[in-house]
Amino acid sequence: RERAREILESATRRNTNRLGVEAMDLLDAYGIPTPQGDVVTTPSEAQAIADEIGDDVVMKIVSPDILHKSDIGGVEVGVSPENVRDTFEDLVVRARNYQRDATVLGVQVQEMVDLDSGTETILGMNRDPQFGPLLLFGLGGIFVEVLEDNTVRVAPVSEPEAREMLDDIESAPLLRGARGREPVDEDALVETVQRLSQLVTDFPAIVELDINPLVATPDGVQAVDLRLTID
Ligand code: ADP
Ligand code: MG
Repeated sequence: RERAREILESATRRNTNRLGVEAMDLLDAYGIPTPQGDVVTTPSEAQAIADEIGDDVVMKIVSPDILHKSDIGGVEVGVSPENVRDTFEDLVVRARNYQRDATVLGVQVQEMVDLDSGTETILGMNRDPQFGPLLLFGLGGIFVEVLEDNTVRVAPVSEPEAREMLDDIESAPLLRGARGREPVDEDALVETVQRLSQLVTDFPAIVELDINPLVATPDGVQAVDLRLTID
C-alpha cells in the first residue's frame, strides 16, 4: 500500500493524471500478476531487458498522449532479440508521426504471454459520483466492443460477489473450457478482482482504471496492459 501511494504521488508531482503501463508497479504492489518487463528510454536499455527475459518480447510505446497504442502501430508482438534496438527506434518514430509533440516516456519491453492457452478479459473501474467505484469484468481484447459482454458491481466486492461476476458474463463457458480448451484458473481471477477492488477502495484518487487485457490462463492471470486516470 505504501508503494502504491508513492507511485500515485510521484505521478501527481509530474503533473500527469493519465498513467499507462509505466504504472504497472501499482498492480504488483497489490499482488496482481504482471508479465516480466520494464519501461526504458534507450535502445541499449531495451536490449538489456530483452536479454534478461531471454526470449522474444513485446515492445510498446509509453506515452500519456497515446491511448490506444496498437492503433498507431505502437505495439510490436514477438520481437526477436536481434530486432529490439531497431524496434525501439521504430516505435518512437511512429509516436512522433502520430503526434509531433507527443510526450514519450519510453518503451516498455515485456515478456510474451501465451494468448493461445489464455482468454483475454477486461477488468476495470469507473468511479460513479453517485454509486462510487464500479468494477467491470468482461471479455477483453478484440471482442470487447463487438460483444459487450460484461458485468458490473460496486466495490468493495466480497469473494462470493467476485465469483458471481465470472458466472455473470455470457462467455463464462469460455473460461470454463469450452470446445476442449483447458479451463482457466478461476480462483486467480476471483482473487484479482478482489485485489483491484481493494486498490480502488484504498485510493479514491483513482477515478478510472482499465486492465485490458487481463489474460486468464489455466496457470493464473497476467495483467498485460494498464491505463488509469487520477484526479
Ligand atoms: P493497447 O490496448 O494500448 O493497444 P495492449 O498493451 O493492450 O495495447 O496491446 C494490444 C494487444 O497486443 C493486446 O490486446 C494483446 O492481444 C497483444 N499483447 C500485448 N502485450 C502482450 C504480451 N505481453 N503478450 C502477448 N500479447 C500481447
Ligand atoms: Mg490494451
